[in-house]
Amino acid sequence: MSSTVRSTAAVAALADPRVPYPRTTEETACRTRPQRWFPVRYSRDSIEQQQARNACLRCPLAEQCLLWALANPELTEHGIWAATSPKKRAHLRTSLVERLGADWVAVVADRRQARGRAGTAQRWNPRLRAADPPAAAPSAAARPRHREPVTPQQATRNRMVLLAALTSGRRRAA
Ligand code: SF4
Repeated sequence: MSSTVRSTAAVAALADPRVPYPRTTEETACRTRPQRWFPVRYSRDSIEQQQARNACLRCPLAEQCLLWALANPELTEHGIWAATSPKKRAHLRTSLVERLGADWVAVVADRRQARGRAGTAQRWNPRLRAADPPAAAPSAAARPRHREPVTPQQATRNRMVLLAALTSGRRRAA
């Protein structure tokens, strides 16, 4: 989400450098209708806020956006970020501190880097590539669904993917 309060340079200077800002050349829904993402009062009953949350759940930047918002509380005191309200983000931060420690941002950033290195190694290792199954033709079920309404089940699944992305590796590390 774009910050409507501070300039990009100010945000970059204040943001935690371990977590990349969610950037895209495409217009995200929050950039085209920012007023929905910055309500005066937060309410589950607000149709506009529900529409904002649904747009976040379909957004390709959602995982990165949630991580950035959680890692930068002073920059995300207000607004809906990755379908979360300020109260929900505070709860998630508390949960991350309990699970990963006070410097949970470093833990998550390290894990993301390790996943990135593992992915790069796999892409450039001919033996691993040969073991890859052949790419299947996209089925009707795999076609982009970003223009279709999100069902409650899909929204729940998307939220679980977002949260799992932040906490993955916890069980392995335990
Ligand atoms: S997840 Fe939501 S707040 Fe974040 S960039 Fe996408 S639409 Fe904007």
